[in-house]
Amino acid sequence: MCTATPLPQWPTPNPAFNEGRPLEAFVQPTASGLATSGCFGCVRKNKRGGGLFHEGLDMLPIKHDKKGNPLDKITPIWPGKVVYINKVGGNSNYGIYVVLEHTDITPAMYTLYGHLSSVTTGLSIGQVIAVKDVIGVMGHTSADKIPKARSHLHFEIGLRLSDHFQTWYNKGAFKTGNKHGLWNGMNLVGMDPLDFFERAQEGRFKEMTAYLQGLPTAFTVQIATSQVPDFINRYPCLCSAPLPPPGQLKGWEIEFTWYGLPKSWKPVMAESGGSLREPVIKSYDSALLKANRCRKTIIFNAKNQPMVGPELKKIIDILFLK
Ligand SMILES: [Zn+2]
Repeated sequence: MCTATPLPQWPTPNPAFNEGRPLEAFVQPTASGLATSGCFGCVRKNKRGGGLFHEGLDMLPIKHDKKGNPLDKITPIWPGKVVYINKVGGNSNYGIYVVLEHTDITPAMYTLYGHLSSVTTGLSIGQVIAVKDVIGVMGHTSADKIPKARSHLHFEIGLRLSDHFQTWYNKGAFKTGNKHGLWNGMNLVGMDPLDFFERAQEGRFKEMTAYLQGLPTAFTVQIATSQVPDFINRYPCLCSAPLPPPGQLKGWEIEFTWYGLPKSWKPVMAESGGSLREPVIKSYDSALLKANRCRKTIIFNAKNQPMVGPELKKIIDILFLK
């Protein structure tokens, strides 16, 4: 069921990463100037000085026109299928973006290419593309203003939470409608692209499921429910044991990364505690969570006890709401 995964290709023409050069040669920093600020994780600060999560890798341009606009052509990291194109930059913090789904990979990862200046003419939903095919051109489009001098590709890779995202969105108090369907960033859980590319480069990366399951577990939660979420139907490789016969499933034990990627699922067949509203935290890595507080998957109360944080609650709601 779990098949070998082809090596990913760098999605911009910049050879710096493949040449083993330092971060500064391929990562676009924020105004702070620190290359790490363009990486994945709690790498940024909000206005109050708290940590701010960045869910991708910002790749800088190496080719410009006379006016300083980037000319770098963006290509997919794997062959894939175009599943979403947002052509109106102001409609998303990703700006103009394209999402591909890689259904030849197990599990079928998505990759996202954001802040493009333009999308290749004729690129259409459902189109199957090869790694040599150009998706669009690097830019600085976004609902948030990004200066031209900080043009970059926001690259993201991960898993999609739900086929029923709209149901969750409709229940929320959002000021505007969901303009991006299933490919809204809130329905996507990205992982660390740099770690992923580094492992591939080192030859330690053979297969996507093994990579995901090898990511550090930050916490495990137990949820009593008879529901099999579509996440598991779409990504059966992330289930660590066969599903029990109908009617016998009593719940799930789910291992998460610190940023909330539900990387391993174990079906529970005995009556157990924890509900969708109040999952039980079975175990947790305090050091890992405290080193990455900005994400708020698990938060710690005044007595230093772990509690389900707002981000984890949101992820569980999206996963299970039908
Ligand atoms: Zn970014």
